Order: sequence, then structure tokens, then C-alpha cells
Amino acid sequence: MEDVFLAAEARIKSLQRVMNLTDREVDRLLSSEKISHTELEVEGEKIPAWRIIHNNALGPGKGGIRFHPDVSEGEVRSLAFWMALKNSLAGLPYGGGKGGAKFNPKGRSPEFIQKVSRAYVKAFHQVLGPDKDVPAPDVYTNPQVMAWMLDEYEKIIGQHQPAMITGKPIELGGLALRSDSTARGGFIIANELINAMNENKTELTVAIQGFGNAGAHIARMLDQDGLKIIAVSDSRGGIMNENGLDLAEVSETKEREGTVAAYTKGNKISNEELLELKTDILFLAALENQITKENADRIQARYIIELANGPVSPEADEVLWSKKIMVVPDILANSGGVIVSYFEWAQNKVGNLLDEAYLERKLEEMMKLSWSRVLDVFEKKDRAIDLRTSAYVLAVERILSAERLRGNI
Ligand code: GLU
Repeated sequence: MEDVFLAAEARIKSLQRVMNLTDREVDRLLSSEKISHTELEVEGEKIPAWRIIHNNALGPGKGGIRFHPDVSEGEVRSLAFWMALKNSLAGLPYGGGKGGAKFNPKGRSPEFIQKVSRAYVKAFHQVLGPDKDVPAPDVYTNPQVMAWMLDEYEKIIGQHQPAMITGKPIELGGLALRSDSTARGGFIIANELINAMNENKTELTVAIQGFGNAGAHIARMLDQDGLKIIAVSDSRGGIMNENGLDLAEVSETKEREGTVAAYTKGNKISNEELLELKTDILFLAALENQITKENADRIQARYIIELANGPVSPEADEVLWSKKIMVVPDILANSGGVIVSYFEWAQNKVGNLLDEAYLERKLEEMMKLSWSRVLDVFEKKDRAIDLRTSAYVLAVERILSAERLRGNI
């Protein structure tokens, strides 16, 4: 299979030893349920696109759609696999799903992006639906893209169907809470980690790679909570100031210049340099494979929190573990986004209005529960396995138990 998916295979193979999984169980966990692939034709351009359901034992596929020049089948498969685990760990009634279109939306007109969004739904509408597979935003897609996709879907099926997609604008059935929910979930987990490790919040320094939906929002939350943010970056580079960055000014710079690297009160650094800074907590909020065997031994952070999907490779995990750097895995740390997607989906299905203050509390409760369950496995195994493996144990147990009940294994 494709190279990118090898990381998923490596992780499940090492889990096989920890959990005594049979080969049949491993095969089931690694096989994609449905791979849909086509080439979208937009203004004479051919854009490869995928939608993949990984496992659907727990419910319909669920997971975002990304627009990015590096999208590949192996990447979408890996992301769908992680969604299956993430949804399982969070206790949601979903399998895993993910989609992608391979093009760079940066610098393209809204008209072009709208055409790609509509072409995507035209191509895949048969495999999508509230009880089949439910997309959401991911890298470089947003509520407007969700609105175009919903509109195209409803035109095709001839009726309203808001539960077919989440992360929508509020007018179309979305929740205000969804816009910063990935960061909010990550922030709750960061606080749980800080408490569990007996750290003093006001003495901690933070570096954040990525200043998109997850990175920019968590920077704001951490700043307001009194942590010192010493470095941030985006795809065009980063900025660092060991006395702490003024977050409001950095955000204004990003808004005005399109990159945090244009901020002047600090030293310019590259994304690679940011990863290697001496800091207490490193948040990875960009793309996959940022810490690999190439740079893992140079990482100096004490804790790493994965807000992106798959930012640390399996080989890097081993190096970080041997250096006693604690990594809070993506399927736990960034699950706030899909949890709030679930609230939105449920509300759309029932046609009932849910109180957002209640949902905010519910999100906190669910994140804390996931954290304590993962920490429990970690402690029960005498800290002999890392937090990622502990989270995978729980996620895989739930999927396999559903597979068994269905008679699939
Ligand atoms: N794309 C987000 C993720 O990777 C959200 C998925 C969703 O809300 O369905 O978790």
C-alpha cells in the first residue's frame, strides 16, 4: 500500500503485541471500508479527489475534507483511519471518514473554490449522507465551503438535509461553538495535562506550530489563561520572543500581512527551528509528519500536544519516548472539533434547538472523560506504554467489540 499509510500499519502492528490482537482483527482494523476516487474537472483543470470511509462498525463515516496540494490517497486513508479511532475514543456513534481534493486553494478566487466544492459533491453525493458519511471542514476548508457543499447536495436530492455535513455557517444549521471547538478541546486537555503533571501554569512557556483554525484559537486561549507564548509559526515561517509574544499584535499582523512571520517584535525563525526550541509545551497545529526520525532527537520540549492529525511519525514516537517527552496524541487532543460536529449533526437530525452553554459544558465533560480514561490505561500499564498507545487501546477495543457484535470478526 502507499507509503503514507505505512505509519498507520506500523502503529496497529505494534498495538497487536500490546493487545494480543489476532491477524484477522488487525486486517479488519487496517482495511478501508470504501475508497471513492475521481478527477474533478474545473475550468479545464483536473483535480484528483477522494472520499474514504475507513471503518463503519460504530456508525456512518465522519471526518473532514481538505483542499491541499499534497493530498494523496495514502494521506486520505490515513486521515480516515485516525478519524475512526478518534470517533471511537470520544464515544461517538461514528466510523471514520475523510476526503480531500488535491489543489492549492490559496490565491484562488472564491468562484473557483465554489466550483471545486460543488464538483466534489456532484462526484461523491452517492456515498455521502447523514447516515452514510458526514463531512466537515479540515485543512484549508471552512464553513463557506460546507455551505456550498450542502447546497449542491440538497439540489441533487431535492430536499433539505442539513445533517449531511457539519461545520456549517449558523444560518444553515451550524453551531457557533464549532468555529473554535478543536482549540477549545485541546485547551481543556492541556489543562488536564498541566494538573496531572503538577505543573505551575504561570511558569510554562509555549510554542505553537500552525496558526490556522486550531493554532490561532489555542494561542488566544492559552494567552488569556496566563501561559507565556514564546513562538508561533504558519506555512510562511515563524516568530519568536523568549519574553513572550503579544498575541493580539501577532494576530493583527497575520490578518493584515497574511503571515505571523511579518511580526517585527521578535526574531524570525523557520518552522523547523520552532520545533526544536527549548520550551515546556509544543503544540503541533499544522500538518502531518512534522516530527520524524530526522529531527526527533533535537526536540527539547517537555510536552507535545498534537492538534494536527499525525504530526509525529511512529519512529519519532520511539525517540521522544526514550527522551521522556510526553506526547498527547491527536485522536485525544484534537477531538473537540468532531465532538461539536456530533452536537451539530444530532441537532440537525432531531430538529431540536440545543442550548450552547449546555453544549460547551458537555464538550468539557467529554474531553475530560476521554483524558481520564486514557490516563487510567497509562497508569494501569505502569507507564510502560505511551499516551498514544493507551488511547489506541481504548479506541480499538470499542471498534472491535462493535465488529464482534456485528459478527464481522
Ligand atoms: N477535520 C476535523 C478532524 O480532523 C473535524 C472532523 C469533523 O468534525 O467531522 O477531526
